[in-house]
Amino acid sequence: MGRARWYITTPIYYPSDNLHIGHAYTTVAADAFARYHRLRGEAVWFVTGTDEHGQKIARQAAQRGQTPAAMVEEIVAGIRSLWATLGISYDDFIRTTEPRHARVVQAVFQRLMDQGDIYRGEYEGWYCVPDETFWPESKLVEGRCPDCGRPVERVREDSYFLRLSRYADRLLAYYAEHPDFVQPASRLHEMESFVRAGLEDLSVSRKGLSWGIPVPGDPEHTIYVWFDALLNYLTAAGYLADEERLAATWPPDVQLVGKEIVRFHAVIWPIILMALDLPLPKRVFGHGWLLLGDTKMSKSRGNVVDPVELVRKYGLDPVRYYLLREVPFGADGSYTEEALVLRTNVDLANDLGNLLHRTVAMIGRFNGGLVPPYRPGVEAPSLRQACAEAVREVEAAMEQLEVSRAMIAIGQLVRAANKYIEERQPWNLYREPQDRELLDDVLYNLAETLRILSVLLTPFLVETPERIRRQLGIREPVRHWEETAWGRTLAGTPVEPGPPLFPRREWNPEPEPAPTTPVEPAEPAAPPRISIQDFSRIDLRVGRVEAAEVVPGADRLLKLRIDLGGEVRTVVSGIRSHYGPDDLVGRHVVVVANLEPARIRGIVSEGMILAASDDGRLTLVGPWDAIPPGARVR
Ligand SMILES: [Zn+2]
Repeated sequence: MGRARWYITTPIYYPSDNLHIGHAYTTVAADAFARYHRLRGEAVWFVTGTDEHGQKIARQAAQRGQTPAAMVEEIVAGIRSLWATLGISYDDFIRTTEPRHARVVQAVFQRLMDQGDIYRGEYEGWYCVPDETFWPESKLVEGRCPDCGRPVERVREDSYFLRLSRYADRLLAYYAEHPDFVQPASRLHEMESFVRAGLEDLSVSRKGLSWGIPVPGDPEHTIYVWFDALLNYLTAAGYLADEERLAATWPPDVQLVGKEIVRFHAVIWPIILMALDLPLPKRVFGHGWLLLGDTKMSKSRGNVVDPVELVRKYGLDPVRYYLLREVPFGADGSYTEEALVLRTNVDLANDLGNLLHRTVAMIGRFNGGLVPPYRPGVEAPSLRQACAEAVREVEAAMEQLEVSRAMIAIGQLVRAANKYIEERQPWNLYREPQDRELLDDVLYNLAETLRILSVLLTPFLVETPERIRRQLGIREPVRHWEETAWGRTLAGTPVEPGPPLFPRREWNPEPEPAPTTPVEPAEPAAPPRISIQDFSRIDLRVGRVEAAEVVPGADRLLKLRIDLGGEVRTVVSGIRSHYGPDDLVGRHVVVVANLEPARIRGIVSEGMILAASDDGRLTLVGPWDAIPPGARVR
């Protein structure tokens, strides 16, 4: 007997079109669960693939003037390349056109015929080709498909039927005994009512459709594409091919499916398994849709977002992070590029990137670039506790398939560490020789928290954990979840300052001319000497902030109204990651009053406010004592 494997599946996708960000969402989530369980030392079996048969594919190929086989070949190659681009770590990619699968489908069909679960009759009713779904007259809504609202086609033909009715009571009993079988719970309740309303036997064959697997002994009939597709999970587990592998793998631990196909996975699929005397999957999780704005993405609507394009533009980990973080898994979410940019800039560039940059820079400046020794007991264990809490919360969230909750817990740890820097102020400890041990501890705690973050992020992000570790001077990759335990960073490790972890992104729905002045002025490397006359050409004034608001679509910018004594100016300033609007109103700042106006995000900015910055810290500059707005600074 092989070692038990943790088995997770995605839906197998229709290769009728290139996949969009909605499919990427499901598959990246499955990948995160698979990576998490591998990191815990479990043997994982992560399967995705393609559902290649059926009338829809056959028609589409005909429209393109291709054979179905040639068409799917092309699209499947694109899907595999998409998963490579997104770092999807599947163990098996199953195609329903593979011989290993046809063998299983025919054998199962034959067995169910032999035991009377499949019988021959005549089907008369309706068929939705895009959904590949049979509908009785009674279920139609205004003569259309109740699922998708599209026109249905009349079908009357000899057909084979799966005796769903025989299993309805067993299925309801199973739901009652296994309340976690279908999640979220709301979907289980939907399924219960559906089954209680009465299950009609399901037509499981089509006549005269050659693109599919023939019914054994009756090649005029082709096995219904959903019957064929659902069995992929068995084929990929080694059913009828490798008993030992099957025993180690079956049943699936988690089957992720879109909410629109929960019914197939929560009704037809368990009934087939009951008929085969096989255990049912432990959890079928029906997640929501990633909507574009508030409409469903589909090729026919022409509103699909290509994930390859997004990765090219923003990088792999920002796209993965966004997908995993943005939408509570289970609910519907809304995709916007603006939100992706905001997540990248705020959570990744600002919070995580700055934490690493500041920590490595401070170890460089205050301890010669070497991680200092850890002296337990010198410093309150607040950050250590925050790490332990984050680890526990990520574990609980992953167990409950709440991947966005796991990401939130990681984000909270990052913010706790940044706050710790503000509270402990290592630059002040450095000035006092008696605070030396405390400084060592603070720097150690920060390095150790970043190392733990590199472990926590390993299931979710592909490139970032190693990039964090490189800057911390850690050569070994993350190998096990147990490395989230405190105290493994070695004193004396030389840190290696590197480039920013995540470049900040601009989001420009309508490209505008570049601002004539930098939004966040870069420090010149070595400013040239100037005369007092040169300096006097700069008109610096004290200003009082009257109002401050965020600039929509620009997460770094604030639009300020500043009183310069008798004149109120609009100034756009790139300080939003350091100050919120509420921090600023009523404060006195120093304004470059004779700067040429610049148009920034369509707003005319009439001046610039002065700030001091260092290592990602930024503080505004203002007068020490009260002085009226408009006072000259020189
Ligand atoms: Zn439909």
